[in-house]
Amino acid sequence: MSDMPEKFINEEGLRLDGRQVNELRPLKIEVGVLKRADGSCYLELGQNKVVAAVYGPREIHPRHLQNAMETVVRYRYNMASFSVDERKRPGPDRRGVEVSKVSREAIGPVVLKEYYPRSSIDIFVEVLQADAGTRTAGINAASVALADAGIPMKGLVSSCAVGKVDDTLVLDLMKEEDNYGQADMPIAMVAKEDKITLLQMDGHLTNDEFKKGLEMAISGCKKIYEVQKKALIDAYS
Ligand code: UDP
Repeated sequence: MSDMPEKFINEEGLRLDGRQVNELRPLKIEVGVLKRADGSCYLELGQNKVVAAVYGPREIHPRHLQNAMETVVRYRYNMASFSVDERKRPGPDRRGVEVSKVSREAIGPVVLKEYYPRSSIDIFVEVLQADAGTRTAGINAASVALADAGIPMKGLVSSCAVGKVDDTLVLDLMKEEDNYGQADMPIAMVAKEDKITLLQMDGHLTNDEFKKGLEMAISGCKKIYEVQKKALIDAYS
């Protein structure tokens, strides 16, 4: 806990990186960055750098996983060993399995799965640089990569976190706020339908904070949705 900041918000109400409490980190989205994937996306959210690759619909292996009624959506989130300060041991770990599962459940509901029975759609998210909020960055990138692959979807999924530091709600936590803050609540939603597909909570919020925080996170997701849409429109026009 040695590098824990004394204060997260200064007298002017600004955070450690100079942001307002309800401000997202700078977001950059590039579509179609990988030649061999059916769809792909490179995304930067502040200091986070992630790549998402989508393959499919394609024949599913192992075959016994196939579903006669619909495609199977698979999602693998992986954090590169060099993406964090303290080298992460390569390969799957408990956290990666958890993030992959919740991300798949966040994205799955928008895919029109019945169009491609017996197949799989495989989503890979590689975190190249991590600074908190990598699951949200990954979901945002995966959603754009799915659209780039031409997968029929009900809408794009957008994701961001809200949290609490110095007893104050803040949008889109950076690493210090995530590691030493009082709460972290990532959400994902289908922004155009106002449907939430992921809500996790680490730490503690009062009922009022939860309600206000949820509103902040929803407005953050809607801003991200606009950037995702623009990146796709720019890529295809
Ligand atoms: N982190 C790390 N090493 C790890 C896992 C996480 O340094 O093995 C850092 C990384 O910066 C990550 C942050 O802790 O973004 C927060 O991790 P969390 O599990 O809350 O997921 P995230 O906020 O990235 O979705």
